[in-house]
Parts: sequence; C-alpha cells; structure tokens
Amino acid sequence: MGSRIWVPGLCSGCKDDSQPGMRLSQVHHDAGAAPLYVCEPCIRGLEEPRPAHNAAAI
Ligand SMILES: [Zn+2]
Repeated sequence: MGSRIWVPGLCSGCKDDSQPGMRLSQVHHDAGAAPLYVCEPCIRGLEEPRPAHNAAAI
C-alpha cells in the first residue's frame, strides 16, 4: 500500500506524454543513466493480478 505521486513525463513504454505516470529506477546505458518513466496505463499493465494457482489458501 501507499500513495503514489503521479508526475507528467514521456512514457518509456508507449511514448505518450499526455498520461500521468511515475519515475521508476534508473536505467543504465553505456552512455550513462536515464530515468525510466512509465505512464499509469503502462504501470497497470505491468501490475497484472497474480495467477490464481499462486493464491495462498487461508
Ligand atoms: Zn505508457
């Protein structure tokens, strides 16, 4: 849990700068490091629900 601070930026995934998003850990390239920015729709795409077979029985 926790609040997220959405900031404007150019998404590294869909190249869309019209969506709110957030900066993730930096990506290091040979020429240096660049911030990885991903918009909200792309983040939601990454955070898929856990597979049902991984659900723990209580
Ligand atoms: Zn995106």
